[in-house]
Amino acid sequence: QKAEWAKLKNEKTVSKDGQHVELAANIGTPKDVEGVLANGGEAVGLYRTEFLYMGRDNFPTEEEQFEAYKAVLEAMGDKPVVVRTLDIGGDKELPYLHLPKEMNPFLGYRAIRLCLDDTDLFRTQLRALLRASAYGKLRIMFPMIATLNEFRSAKALLLEEKAKLVAEGVTVSEEIEVGMMVEIPSAAVLADQFAKEVDFFSIGTNDLIQYTMAADRMNEKVSYLYQPYNPSILRLVKMVIDAAHKEGKWTGMCGEMAGDQTAIPLLLGLGLDEFSMSATSILPARSLISKLSKAEMADLAAEALNKSTVEEVIELVESIQK
Ligand code: PEP
Ligand code: MG
Repeated sequence: QKAEWAKLKNEKTVSKDGQHVELAANIGTPKDVEGVLANGGEAVGLYRTEFLYMGRDNFPTEEEQFEAYKAVLEAMGDKPVVVRTLDIGGDKELPYLHLPKEMNPFLGYRAIRLCLDDTDLFRTQLRALLRASAYGKLRIMFPMIATLNEFRSAKALLLEEKAKLVAEGVTVSEEIEVGMMVEIPSAAVLADQFAKEVDFFSIGTNDLIQYTMAADRMNEKVSYLYQPYNPSILRLVKMVIDAAHKEGKWTGMCGEMAGDQTAIPLLLGLGLDEFSMSATSILPARSLISKLSKAEMADLAAEALNKSTVEEVIELVESIQK
């Protein structure tokens, strides 16, 4: 199997019936890019920038951030890099932010909510990203978007910083795509409206499942409710993909589900355009997809959407793996 995977390293990801999808990797630091390239990643689908802010006692400067983003973009060359703006809060704390303890940190002051409130913090990151955009193919995405107004405000700040930089004579790419994570059910439900304003979606199933099932992703007592194959999740995923396609946009997925061998046939069938996963899952996923017909998986996915339970969905998927 290892030998078969190795052969696929420099290949594109193509289904048995000739349909291309993009297999990307999730990274946390510039050092991770090495593993992405070694495993044949076609893109970085999620660069979690919060690690730049963690494990230290003050904010990273614009310059420090610029260097990190530039390093990733340069190392990836002409391959796209999706950078997620700061997603702090929930399970990821920053002691030097001195935030009050909350009853429900996962439902609280975090990610884009915090960035739209502490705009100095956010603008610094946006400037660093815009400056780095000259060195590669940058895609920016905002985490934890619940409303259109949040997306619009975040994008407006980005455009403001861009205009300032351009006025200062700094080179900024004209080709930056600006998208959002879909990890809050409200965004999935209203995806048709979001799709008119974003360049792309990336579905964050780790949180989308947690919020849809109302089951804390860190709490083992309720982990039985953490159900990626629950038809309710599949239907939300479908809504997002269909909404994007209707507007000529693309949809990726950067939650754990994207690299899951049971989920992949369904996601391929639902029309997912980009799958972002840990680097080591890329070659196994490419191999699996090369053996699947997208048209057949579309029928499989349609059937899965009408199942009632996770068990039924798993049984359906397993019926093709024979
Ligand atoms: C997600 O929620 O699926 C996701 C990719 O983001 P994180 O795991 O960093 O919350
Ligand atoms: Mg998330």
